[in-house]
Amino acid sequence: MKKITVIGSGTMGSGIAHCFAQYGFDIVLVDIRQAALDLALEKIAVNFDRQIKKGVLTLDQKKASLSRLATSTSLSSAVAQADLVVEAATENQALKAKIFQDIDTHAPATCLLATNTSSLSITALAAHTKRPAQVIGMHFMNPVPIMRLVEIIRGQNTSDATLAAITQLTTKIEKVPLVARDYPGFVANRILLPMINEAIETLFQGVGDVEAIDEMMKLGMGHPMGPLRLADFIGLDVCLSVLEVLHQGFGKDKYAPCPLLRNMVAAGNLGVKTQRGFYDYSTDPKHPTPLQF
Ligand code: NAD
Repeated sequence: MKKITVIGSGTMGSGIAHCFAQYGFDIVLVDIRQAALDLALEKIAVNFDRQIKKGVLTLDQKKASLSRLATSTSLSSAVAQADLVVEAATENQALKAKIFQDIDTHAPATCLLATNTSSLSITALAAHTKRPAQVIGMHFMNPVPIMRLVEIIRGQNTSDATLAAITQLTTKIEKVPLVARDYPGFVANRILLPMINEAIETLFQGVGDVEAIDEMMKLGMGHPMGPLRLADFIGLDVCLSVLEVLHQGFGKDKYAPCPLLRNMVAAGNLGVKTQRGFYDYSTDPKHPTPLQF
C-alpha cells in the first residue's frame, strides 16, 4: 500500500493525511472547498513544527512529508490511482453514501475503502459499493497526530484480507488497532457519548456549572480533559449526530440527546471550531472562559 486518498480535509481528514504523509505514504487530500484544503495545509505545517519542537521530527522529515502531500477538489481524479481511500467527510449518512458510490465508480478494483465515521453503519455504507468485502471502518481519534488508538470496525461483509491489511497499516503508522463490531457507536463512542450527554444534562438541570463539572471529572476521575471541554473539542454537531445514531439504532431513551445540546447546535455554537460552545475560545483558545447556562 503506497497511495492513499483522504476525502474531507477538516479536523480529522487533515490529521489523517498528516500521519500517513509522515510515515512515507503518498497522499491526496480532497475537499469540495478549496478554502478547507488551504486551511488544512496550514494546520498540517503548524503541527509538523510542533513535532519538530518536541524532537519527534526533523526539519528534513517535515519537508519530505509535505512533498508527499497533494490536494484536490476532484474526487474522481484523486482516487483513480489509490490503493486505499479513507473517507473523513462530514458525518451525514446520505453524504457519505454518495461519496462511497463515487469512490467505487472511480477507484481501481483492488482499492480498499475505509471510513472514519464516528457512528454510522459500515455495513450500510459498504452496500453502496460493489466491493463490500473491501470496505472497513478506520476510526481515528482526535487529535490524530497525537492519539494512538484506531478503532477498526468490521462490517458484516468485510473480508479477513481487508481486516488484516488495515490492521497492518495502522501498526505501520505507529498506532494501535483495536477491533470492534459494527453496531451503533461501535465501542469508543458508545461509552464516551452517553457520558458527555450526561455531563450536558447535569449542566442543563443546574446541578453544577461548566467549571465544576469538568474539574470534578478531571480531579476526581483522572480524566485529562473534562467532558464539556471534550465535547467542544469534538464538535457539538458531531456529538449530537453520534447520539442520534445511538438513540435511533438502539431505540432506548438513555441515548436521547439533551435539549441543551440540540439548542447549542441549532444556534451554531459548535465548540472550538466556532470559538463558542460550553466555553468561549475567542480571547485565549488555550485557556477558554467557561460560560454560564
Ligand atoms: P469537519 O467538519 O471538521 O470536516 C469535514 C470536511 O468534509 C469539511 O472540510 C467539508 O468541506 C468536507 N466535505 C463535506 N462534503 C464533502 C464531499 N462531498 N467531498 C469532500 N469533502 C467534503 O468534520 P470532522 O470533525 O473532521 O469529521 C469528519 C469525520 O470524522 C466525521 O465522520 C466524524 O464523525 C468523524 N470523526 C470526528 C472526530 C472529531 O473529534 N471531530 C473524531 C473521530 C471521527
